[in-house]
Amino acid sequence: MIDPFGRSISYLRVSVTDRCDLRCVYCMSENMTFLPKKDLLSLEELDRLCSAFVEIGVRKLRITGGEPLVRRNIIELFNNLGRHLKTGALSELTLTTNGTQLPAYAEQLVKAGVKRINISLDSLDAQRFKDITRWGNHAQVMDGIRAAKAAGLKIKINIVAMRDVNEDEFNDFVAWCGQEGFDLVFIETMPMGEIDGDRTAQYLPLSLVRAKLAQRWTLDPIPDTTGGPARYTRVKETGGRVGFITPMTHNFCESCNRVRLTCTGTLYMCLGQEDAADLRAPLRASESDELLTAAIREAITRKPKGHDFVIDRTHKRPAVARHMSVTGG
Ligand code: SAM
Ligand code: SF4
Repeated sequence: MIDPFGRSISYLRVSVTDRCDLRCVYCMSENMTFLPKKDLLSLEELDRLCSAFVEIGVRKLRITGGEPLVRRNIIELFNNLGRHLKTGALSELTLTTNGTQLPAYAEQLVKAGVKRINISLDSLDAQRFKDITRWGNHAQVMDGIRAAKAAGLKIKINIVAMRDVNEDEFNDFVAWCGQEGFDLVFIETMPMGEIDGDRTAQYLPLSLVRAKLAQRWTLDPIPDTTGGPARYTRVKETGGRVGFITPMTHNFCESCNRVRLTCTGTLYMCLGQEDAADLRAPLRASESDELLTAAIREAITRKPKGHDFVIDRTHKRPAVARHMSVTGG
Protein backbone atom coordinates (compact mmCIF):
# COMPACT_ATOMS: atom_id res chain seq x y z
CA MET A 1 0.00 0.00 0.00
CA ILE A 2 1.56 3.27 -1.13
CA ASP A 3 -0.08 6.60 -0.23
CA PRO A 4 -0.20 9.72 -2.45
CA PHE A 5 3.03 11.01 -0.90
CA GLY A 6 4.96 7.83 -1.73
CA ARG A 7 4.94 6.48 1.83
CA SER A 8 4.57 2.73 2.13
CA ILE A 9 1.91 1.86 4.71
CA SER A 10 3.04 -1.22 6.59
CA TYR A 11 2.02 -0.53 10.18
CA LEU A 12 -1.49 -0.76 11.66
CA ARG A 13 -2.37 0.29 15.19
CA VAL A 14 -5.64 -1.10 16.47
CA SER A 15 -7.56 0.26 19.43
CA VAL A 16 -9.56 -2.72 20.71
CA THR A 17 -11.48 -0.78 23.35
CA ASP A 18 -11.92 2.86 24.35
CA ARG A 19 -12.27 1.80 28.01
CA CYS A 20 -9.54 1.89 30.61
CA ASP A 21 -8.97 1.02 34.25
CA LEU A 22 -7.01 4.28 34.73
CA ARG A 23 -7.85 7.94 34.11
CA CYS A 24 -4.54 9.61 33.26
CA VAL A 25 -5.05 13.35 33.58
CA TYR A 26 -3.65 14.23 30.13
CA CYS A 27 -5.63 11.49 28.41
CA MET A 28 -9.12 11.35 29.89
CA SER A 29 -11.49 13.30 32.07
CA GLU A 30 -12.56 11.54 35.24
CA ASN A 31 -16.10 10.91 34.05
CA MET A 32 -15.79 9.50 30.59
CA THR A 33 -18.70 8.33 28.47
CA PHE A 34 -17.59 5.20 26.70
CA LEU A 35 -19.05 3.58 23.63
CA PRO A 36 -21.94 1.19 24.20
CA LYS A 37 -20.56 -2.36 24.08
CA LYS A 38 -22.87 -3.22 21.19
CA ASP A 39 -21.04 -0.73 18.95
CA LEU A 40 -17.71 -2.53 19.32
CA LEU A 41 -16.44 -4.87 16.69
CA SER A 42 -16.29 -8.43 17.96
CA LEU A 43 -12.90 -10.06 18.43
CA GLU A 44 -13.64 -12.15 15.33
CA GLU A 45 -14.35 -9.00 13.32
CA LEU A 46 -11.17 -7.36 14.59
CA ASP A 47 -9.25 -10.44 13.53
CA ARG A 48 -10.80 -10.33 10.07
CA LEU A 49 -10.01 -6.65 9.69
CA CYS A 50 -6.42 -6.99 10.84
CA SER A 51 -5.95 -10.01 8.60
CA ALA A 52 -7.24 -8.05 5.59
CA PHE A 53 -4.61 -5.41 6.27
CA VAL A 54 -1.91 -8.07 6.60
CA GLU A 55 -3.04 -9.57 3.30
CA ILE A 56 -2.33 -6.27 1.49
CA GLY A 57 0.96 -5.35 3.08
CA VAL A 58 0.78 -4.56 6.77
CA ARG A 59 3.86 -6.09 8.45
CA LYS A 60 3.47 -4.74 11.96
CA LEU A 61 0.40 -4.74 14.19
CA ARG A 62 0.13 -2.89 17.47
CA ILE A 63 -2.83 -3.58 19.74
CA THR A 64 -3.75 -0.62 21.93
CA GLY A 65 -6.69 1.25 23.42
CA GLY A 66 -7.94 2.48 25.95
CA GLU A 67 -6.35 -0.30 27.86
CA PRO A 68 -6.23 -3.29 25.51
CA LEU A 69 -5.80 -5.84 28.29
CA VAL A 70 -9.12 -4.91 29.96
CA ARG A 71 -11.06 -6.11 26.93
CA ARG A 72 -12.62 -9.47 27.77
CA ASN A 73 -10.91 -12.50 26.16
CA ILE A 74 -8.41 -10.24 24.38
CA ILE A 75 -5.81 -12.99 24.48
CA GLU A 76 -7.89 -14.85 21.87
CA LEU A 77 -7.21 -12.02 19.42
CA PHE A 78 -3.48 -12.24 20.10
CA ASN A 79 -3.52 -16.01 19.73
CA ASN A 80 -5.39 -15.79 16.43
CA LEU A 81 -3.26 -13.01 14.99
CA GLY A 82 -0.17 -14.99 15.97
CA ARG A 83 -0.83 -17.26 12.97
CA HIS A 84 0.39 -14.48 10.66
CA LEU A 85 3.72 -14.46 12.49
CA LYS A 86 4.06 -18.18 11.88
CA THR A 87 3.52 -17.81 8.13
CA GLY A 88 5.90 -14.84 8.00
CA ALA A 89 3.20 -12.52 6.61
CA LEU A 90 3.52 -10.42 9.75
CA SER A 91 6.89 -9.51 11.20
CA GLU A 92 5.71 -8.08 14.50
CA LEU A 93 2.70 -8.32 16.81
CA THR A 94 2.91 -5.99 19.78
CA LEU A 95 0.91 -3.86 22.20
CA THR A 96 0.91 -0.68 24.25
CA THR A 97 -0.38 -1.13 27.78
CA ASN A 98 -0.53 0.62 31.12
CA GLY A 99 0.79 -2.58 32.68
CA THR A 100 -1.93 -3.19 35.27
CA GLN A 101 -2.99 -6.53 33.77
CA LEU A 102 0.47 -7.81 32.88
CA PRO A 103 0.87 -10.02 35.96
CA ALA A 104 -1.90 -12.20 34.50
CA TYR A 105 -1.12 -11.79 30.80
CA ALA A 106 2.66 -11.51 30.26
CA GLU A 107 3.32 -15.22 29.69
CA GLN A 108 0.25 -15.70 27.53
CA LEU A 109 1.34 -12.81 25.32
CA VAL A 110 4.73 -14.42 24.82
CA LYS A 111 3.02 -17.68 23.86
CA ALA A 112 0.97 -15.78 21.28
CA GLY A 113 4.19 -14.55 19.65
CA VAL A 114 4.60 -11.10 21.22
CA LYS A 115 8.27 -10.25 21.72
CA ARG A 116 8.30 -6.59 22.67
CA ILE A 117 5.84 -4.34 24.45
CA ASN A 118 5.44 -0.68 25.29
CA ILE A 119 4.45 0.06 28.87
CA SER A 120 3.34 3.55 29.87
CA LEU A 121 4.66 4.80 33.19
CA ASP A 122 4.83 8.46 34.16
CA SER A 123 6.20 8.25 37.70
CA LEU A 124 8.30 5.97 39.89
CA ASP A 125 6.67 7.41 42.97
CA ALA A 126 3.50 5.67 44.21
CA GLN A 127 1.61 8.77 45.34
CA ARG A 128 2.51 10.77 42.27
CA PHE A 129 1.56 7.84 40.04
CA LYS A 130 -1.85 7.87 41.70
CA ASP A 131 -2.19 11.63 41.18
CA ILE A 132 -1.40 11.31 37.47
CA THR A 133 -3.55 8.24 36.79
CA ARG A 134 -6.27 9.18 39.32
CA TRP A 135 -7.04 5.50 40.00
CA GLY A 136 -3.74 3.69 39.53
CA ASN A 137 -1.90 1.35 41.90
CA HIS A 138 1.82 1.76 41.37
CA ALA A 139 2.78 -1.57 42.96
CA GLN A 140 0.44 -3.42 40.60
CA VAL A 141 2.07 -1.83 37.56
CA MET A 142 5.57 -2.54 38.87
CA ASP A 143 4.49 -6.17 39.33
CA GLY A 144 3.30 -6.12 35.75
CA ILE A 145 6.63 -4.78 34.52
CA ARG A 146 8.48 -7.46 36.47
CA ALA A 147 6.19 -10.15 35.07
CA ALA A 148 6.82 -8.91 31.53
CA LYS A 149 10.57 -8.95 32.05
CA ALA A 150 10.47 -12.39 33.64
CA ALA A 151 8.44 -13.71 30.69
CA GLY A 152 11.22 -12.56 28.36
CA LEU A 153 9.48 -9.57 26.77
CA LYS A 154 11.62 -6.68 25.61
CA ILE A 155 10.25 -3.56 27.26
CA LYS A 156 10.00 0.04 26.19
CA ILE A 157 8.80 2.50 28.82
CA ASN A 158 6.75 5.45 27.52
CA ILE A 159 6.74 8.50 29.74
CA VAL A 160 4.68 11.61 29.04
CA ALA A 161 6.83 14.61 29.98
CA MET A 162 4.82 17.06 32.08
CA ARG A 163 6.00 20.40 33.37
CA ASP A 164 5.98 20.62 37.18
CA VAL A 165 4.49 17.12 37.37
CA ASN A 166 7.23 14.57 36.70
CA GLU A 167 10.15 16.56 35.31
CA ASP A 168 12.21 16.03 38.48
CA GLU A 169 12.15 12.25 37.81
CA PHE A 170 13.60 12.15 34.30
CA ASN A 171 17.14 11.38 35.45
CA ASP A 172 15.81 8.61 37.70
CA PHE A 173 13.95 7.12 34.75
CA VAL A 174 17.10 7.10 32.62
CA ALA A 175 19.05 5.40 35.42
CA TRP A 176 16.32 2.86 36.21
CA CYS A 177 15.67 1.90 32.57
CA GLY A 178 19.41 1.62 32.00
CA GLN A 179 19.70 -0.76 34.94
CA GLU A 180 16.71 -2.85 33.90
CA GLY A 181 17.63 -3.00 30.23
CA PHE A 182 14.48 -1.13 29.11
CA ASP A 183 14.29 1.42 26.33
CA LEU A 184 12.84 4.74 27.45
CA VAL A 185 10.81 7.08 25.27
CA PHE A 186 9.71 10.57 26.22
CA ILE A 187 6.43 11.85 24.73
CA GLU A 188 5.03 15.36 24.57
CA THR A 189 1.41 15.97 25.55
CA MET A 190 -0.78 16.24 22.49
CA PRO A 191 -3.98 18.27 22.29
CA MET A 192 -6.44 15.41 21.86
CA GLY A 193 -9.87 15.23 23.50
CA GLU A 194 -11.40 17.24 26.33
CA ILE A 195 -9.74 16.69 29.71
CA ASP A 196 -10.50 18.31 33.07
CA GLY A 197 -7.30 20.39 33.29
CA ASP A 198 -5.30 22.79 31.17
CA ARG A 199 -2.87 21.17 28.74
CA THR A 200 -0.88 24.30 28.06
CA ALA A 201 0.23 24.26 31.70
CA GLN A 202 1.48 20.65 31.41
CA TYR A 203 3.12 20.98 28.03
CA LEU A 204 6.88 20.58 28.16
CA PRO A 205 8.82 20.69 24.89
CA LEU A 206 11.19 17.74 24.64
CA SER A 207 13.95 19.99 23.33
CA LEU A 208 14.13 21.27 26.93
CA VAL A 209 13.96 17.77 28.38
CA ARG A 210 16.76 16.61 26.15
CA ALA A 211 18.94 19.62 26.94
CA LYS A 212 18.47 19.01 30.67
CA LEU A 213 19.23 15.29 30.40
CA ALA A 214 22.37 16.14 28.45
CA GLN A 215 23.73 17.96 31.50
CA ARG A 216 23.86 14.64 33.34
CA TRP A 217 24.13 12.00 30.60
CA THR A 218 26.03 11.62 27.35
CA LEU A 219 23.34 11.12 24.71
CA ASP A 220 24.81 9.89 21.43
CA PRO A 221 22.31 10.06 18.54
CA ILE A 222 21.60 6.68 16.90
CA PRO A 223 20.68 6.61 13.21
CA ASP A 224 16.95 6.13 12.74
CA THR A 225 16.09 2.58 11.73
CA THR A 226 12.46 2.31 12.86
CA GLY A 227 10.85 4.70 10.36
CA GLY A 228 8.78 5.84 13.33
CA PRO A 229 8.47 9.21 15.02
CA ALA A 230 10.96 8.55 17.86
CA ARG A 231 14.48 9.91 17.57
CA TYR A 232 16.83 7.68 19.58
CA THR A 233 20.01 8.26 21.49
CA ARG A 234 22.37 5.88 23.29
CA VAL A 235 23.18 6.81 26.88
CA LYS A 236 26.91 6.30 27.20
CA GLU A 237 26.84 5.84 30.98
CA THR A 238 24.13 3.13 31.04
CA GLY A 239 24.31 1.67 27.52
CA GLY A 240 20.53 2.10 27.32
CA ARG A 241 18.48 3.74 24.58
CA VAL A 242 16.49 6.91 25.17
CA GLY A 243 14.08 8.22 22.54
CA PHE A 244 12.06 11.37 22.04
CA ILE A 245 8.70 11.62 20.29
CA THR A 246 8.14 15.24 19.43
CA PRO A 247 4.92 15.67 17.49
CA MET A 248 4.64 19.29 18.55
CA THR A 249 8.17 20.54 17.98
CA HIS A 250 9.36 18.28 15.20
CA ASN A 251 7.40 17.30 12.15
CA PHE A 252 7.77 13.55 11.79
CA CYS A 253 5.06 13.15 9.18
CA GLU A 254 7.30 12.70 6.16
CA SER A 255 8.28 9.21 7.28
CA CYS A 256 4.84 8.15 8.58
CA ASN A 257 4.14 4.52 7.68
CA ARG A 258 1.05 3.92 9.83
CA VAL A 259 -2.72 4.11 10.00
CA ARG A 260 -5.03 3.64 12.99
CA LEU A 261 -8.17 1.60 13.43
CA THR A 262 -10.70 2.20 16.22
CA CYS A 263 -12.69 -0.48 18.02
CA THR A 264 -15.76 0.44 15.96
CA GLY A 265 -13.97 -0.10 12.65
CA THR A 266 -13.19 3.52 11.78
CA LEU A 267 -9.84 4.00 10.09
CA TYR A 268 -7.93 7.22 10.80
CA MET A 269 -5.23 7.91 8.28
CA CYS A 270 -3.57 10.46 10.59
CA LEU A 271 -3.53 10.81 14.38
CA GLY A 272 -3.85 14.57 14.06
CA GLN A 273 -6.63 14.86 11.47
CA GLU A 274 -10.38 14.19 11.55
CA ASP A 275 -10.70 12.52 8.15
CA ALA A 276 -11.63 8.86 8.52
CA ALA A 277 -13.01 5.87 6.64
CA ASP A 278 -15.70 3.50 7.88
CA LEU A 279 -14.58 -0.10 7.47
CA ARG A 280 -17.36 -1.66 9.53
CA ALA A 281 -19.97 -1.37 6.78
CA PRO A 282 -17.86 -3.08 4.09
CA LEU A 283 -16.71 -5.64 6.68
CA ARG A 284 -20.29 -6.58 7.51
CA ALA A 285 -21.66 -6.25 3.99
CA SER A 286 -20.16 -9.49 2.75
CA GLU A 287 -18.31 -12.55 3.90
CA SER A 288 -15.62 -12.10 1.32
CA ASP A 289 -13.00 -9.40 1.82
CA GLU A 290 -13.31 -7.73 -1.58
CA LEU A 291 -15.36 -4.71 -0.45
CA LEU A 292 -13.26 -4.35 2.66
CA THR A 293 -9.97 -4.39 0.78
CA ALA A 294 -11.30 -1.85 -1.71
CA ALA A 295 -12.38 0.43 1.16
CA ILE A 296 -8.94 0.16 2.77
CA ARG A 297 -7.17 0.97 -0.48
CA GLU A 298 -9.45 3.94 -1.09
CA ALA A 299 -8.78 5.24 2.44
CA ILE A 300 -5.02 5.08 1.90
CA THR A 301 -5.39 7.38 -1.11
CA ARG A 302 -6.71 9.98 1.37
CA LYS A 303 -3.80 9.80 3.83
CA PRO A 304 -2.91 13.45 4.48
CA LYS A 305 0.56 14.87 4.26
CA GLY A 306 0.71 15.72 7.97
CA HIS A 307 -0.99 16.88 11.16
CA ASP A 308 -1.86 20.39 12.33
CA PHE A 309 -1.31 20.08 16.08
CA VAL A 310 -0.90 23.37 17.91
CA ILE A 311 -0.76 23.90 21.67
CA ASP A 312 -1.05 27.52 22.69
CA ARG A 313 -3.27 29.64 24.83
CA THR A 314 -5.22 31.08 21.91
CA HIS A 315 -6.57 27.63 21.01
CA LYS A 316 -9.05 26.89 23.75
CA ARG A 317 -10.25 23.61 22.31
CA PRO A 318 -8.24 20.46 21.61
CA ALA A 319 -6.86 20.33 18.05
CA VAL A 320 -8.55 16.95 17.68
CA ALA A 321 -11.83 16.32 19.49
CA ARG A 322 -11.40 12.57 19.97
CA HIS A 323 -9.37 11.28 22.88
CA MET A 324 -6.11 9.43 22.38
CA SER A 325 -7.88 6.40 23.89
CA VAL A 326 -10.12 6.22 20.80
CA THR A 327 -7.29 5.97 18.27
CA GLY A 328 -4.81 4.48 20.69
CA GLY A 329 -1.90 6.90 20.36
N1 SAM B 1 -3.68 2.41 27.96
C1 SAM B 1 -2.50 2.12 27.26
C2 SAM B 1 -1.34 2.92 27.80
O1 SAM B 1 -1.55 3.84 28.58
O2 SAM B 1 -0.21 2.59 27.42
C3 SAM B 1 -2.59 2.29 25.76
C4 SAM B 1 -3.33 3.48 25.24
S1 SAM B 1 -2.64 5.06 25.64
C5 SAM B 1 -3.81 6.14 24.86
C6 SAM B 1 -1.21 5.11 24.60
C7 SAM B 1 -0.17 6.15 24.94
O3 SAM B 1 -0.70 7.43 24.67
C8 SAM B 1 0.27 6.16 26.39
O4 SAM B 1 1.68 6.09 26.44
C9 SAM B 1 -0.19 7.50 26.90
O5 SAM B 1 0.68 8.01 27.87
C10 SAM B 1 -0.23 8.33 25.65
N2 SAM B 1 -1.16 9.46 25.67
C11 SAM B 1 -2.49 9.49 25.98
N3 SAM B 1 -3.01 10.71 25.83
C12 SAM B 1 -2.01 11.50 25.41
C13 SAM B 1 -1.90 12.88 25.06
N4 SAM B 1 -2.94 13.69 25.10
N5 SAM B 1 -0.69 13.34 24.67
C14 SAM B 1 0.39 12.52 24.60
N6 SAM B 1 0.37 11.21 24.90
C15 SAM B 1 -0.82 10.70 25.31
FE1 SF4 C 1 -5.82 4.71 30.14
FE2 SF4 C 1 -3.61 4.70 28.68
FE3 SF4 C 1 -5.26 6.84 28.64
FE4 SF4 C 1 -3.88 6.33 30.83
S1 SF4 C 1 -3.04 6.85 28.82
S2 SF4 C 1 -6.08 6.80 30.73
S3 SF4 C 1 -3.79 4.15 30.84
S4 SF4 C 1 -5.73 4.82 27.90
